[in-house]
Amino acid sequence: MAKPCSMQATLVIGTGNKKKGRELAELVAPLGLAVKTLADFPPLPPVEESGRTFAANAELKAVGYAKLLNHWVLADDSGLCVDALGGEPGVDSALYAGKHGEDEANNDKLLAALGDRPPEARAAHYVAHVVLADPRGEVRFRTEDYCRGRILMARAGVGGFGYDPLFEVVEYHRTFGALSPTTKAMISHRARAMRKLLPELERLLAAGLWL
Ligand code: IMP
Repeated sequence: MAKPCSMQATLVIGTGNKKKGRELAELVAPLGLAVKTLADFPPLPPVEESGRTFAANAELKAVGYAKLLNHWVLADDSGLCVDALGGEPGVDSALYAGKHGEDEANNDKLLAALGDRPPEARAAHYVAHVVLADPRGEVRFRTEDYCRGRILMARAGVGGFGYDPLFEVVEYHRTFGALSPTTKAMISHRARAMRKLLPELERLLAAGLWL
């Protein structure tokens, strides 16, 4: 008797941040995987982001959720580093103002910290460190990339999330908050990191190493 069709390969995006999860899901969409998020599973104990680097925290999330779910997991740890603030908020980007993911308060704190510094003293870059873990929790690929820009004196645009209304990509004369999602998906730190990961995902799928 014929075997039942094999299940579609599944990739879980290991983040609780819906907007970040959506960006990651759209960036892997061309591969035709069944993409799930943590919201598709019963509530899980949160993986503690106790590392002090983007690399350490991305690995904690990818490996932690892969083991809990017994699935392939893609996780990124990302943040904003501002030169004039010695790289802050850095790995603490999500909770810069105190509580996790309070974007408005984080942006207010960033504006206050930079004060009236002129444009040339407001250079910053986003970092995304991406880790792919297999269902046993082994790291199968990792990569990191950046997007450079500067912090405006006031918000512009309502798109994106996090610090996007303040983060201007100088070549485009616009913030990520004002650029379209399509443009962000071409030039962001996350998009650049994912462009390096996609060939590896394709290789694993083609080699039948996925299920
Ligand atoms: P994580 O979810 O622990 O990696 O924290 C990421 C935090 O970095 C977010 O909550 C934002 O504050 C910031 N961040 C990372 N990537 C972006 C982005 O693409 N746009 C705006 N803020 C970002």
